Amino acid sequence: MTKTVVVLGAGMAGLPISHYLLSHTTTSVPDLRVILVNPSDEFYWNLASVRAVVPGQLSEDKYLWSIPKLFAKYPSDKFEFLAGKAETLSPDSNSVVVALNDGSKRSIDYHTVIIATGSDSKDGMPWKTVGTSQQTRAALAKLQQGIKDAKSIVVGGAGTTGVEFAGELGTVYAKAGTKAVTIISADTLPLESRVMESTRSTAKSELERLNVKFIAGAKITNVTEAGGQQVLELTKKDGSKTALKTDLFVPTFGMVLNTQFAPRDMLDAQGQLQQDKYLRAPKYKNVFVLGDAGNLEAKQAAMLENQIRHLAKQFDSYFKSGQVEEYKFDPSKVMLGISIGSGRGTGQVGTWKPFSLIMWFMKSRHLGTDKAMDIAAGLRTFGGKW
Ligand SMILES: Cc1cc2nc3c(=O)[nH]c(=O)nc-3n(C[C@H](O)[C@H](O)[C@H](O)COP(=O)(O)OP(=O)(O)OC[C@H]3O[C@@H](n4cnc5c(N)ncnc54)[C@H](O)[C@@H]3O)c2cc1C
Repeated sequence: MTKTVVVLGAGMAGLPISHYLLSHTTTSVPDLRVILVNPSDEFYWNLASVRAVVPGQLSEDKYLWSIPKLFAKYPSDKFEFLAGKAETLSPDSNSVVVALNDGSKRSIDYHTVIIATGSDSKDGMPWKTVGTSQQTRAALAKLQQGIKDAKSIVVGGAGTTGVEFAGELGTVYAKAGTKAVTIISADTLPLESRVMESTRSTAKSELERLNVKFIAGAKITNVTEAGGQQVLELTKKDGSKTALKTDLFVPTFGMVLNTQFAPRDMLDAQGQLQQDKYLRAPKYKNVFVLGDAGNLEAKQAAMLENQIRHLAKQFDSYFKSGQVEEYKFDPSKVMLGISIGSGRGTGQVGTWKPFSLIMWFMKSRHLGTDKAMDIAAGLRTFGGKW
């Protein structure tokens, strides 16, 4: 009997695992059928979004690809793509209702579901996909135009996305003195507190080298409009407030987890899907959770890479006997690569801070766009060949 595997989400976790099921697992499990559900019919290489939003820096063919075209090589009785979103998951009855982009709904009974619905950026910012491909493209175009028109830009938030985006703006504009670029950090240094101080200090000095102004220890507590500009209210830790005017304010903080379709008892207190040591939803042996939607590891492609590789190795035995091996990982290890413009970078591997030249070679020069097409096509993953 046909085993229907529904993959929810075609991001960095869901897209490669769907390819793997179709290109590898179907050889040993021929009665497999994969249904991939995603609101956008394009795969978005969001790791390069910080550069894609800067006008003229990256052509679309480096970060957007049609999902139906990428999967056209598989037989139509083995694969189906649904442009839409999971609306209600009913793990007790092995079914999921999908709200399709055309307004209709479809209920699917599954043998196995793989949840890889990840997270979106707040405020409709295109650091991740923004709903449908039209919505993502519109968000990209709006930000590109805003950047083009602005003489001053304030980047809100100095996490990885904020630092990388400010680095792009610094390289293209602030260094040349054509636009003023400021970044606002809630902490005294950029990046998360789990990152080593030396890496955080380097990120700050690299940004300043590019003429990016770093404002430390302030939160953006209100944004209003006046005289064609945006006025940011900055609140310091001691409660004092100042106003900062800018042509364009670009928020980079916060994320929205895409897990609302799952029953409440599958979620943790933060709204993340619970993952057990087999990468499954506790209680359900046929519900796997991968990537940013889950609560096991840091929300990074580097972590989900290990998860998808582990799960891919389990498929043969899982579909034949239901057996899966435990997923092993080191929760304490920090692995981070941060680009600061196209020429420099910093990072952390365990307790080691790689040199800027290494980070340029590994990340900043391409932001993964040299590999993304092959990942999109299912020929490899973030970490290498299958
Ligand atoms: C600017 C930026 C740079 C980054 N750089 C790095 C880096 O250099 N290295 C690194 O390790 N990590 C990096 N990350 C983190 C990395 O992007 C994420 O860890 C990764 O994208 C998570 O992949 P995912 O597939 O789990 O989720 P997502 O990428 O969020 O994909 C989930 C997909 O599911 C879809 N979806 C949402 N809701 C539903 C639904 N109800 N039904 C069906 N589909 C749905 C979404 O539209 C999306 O297509 C970066 C993140 C950002 C924002």
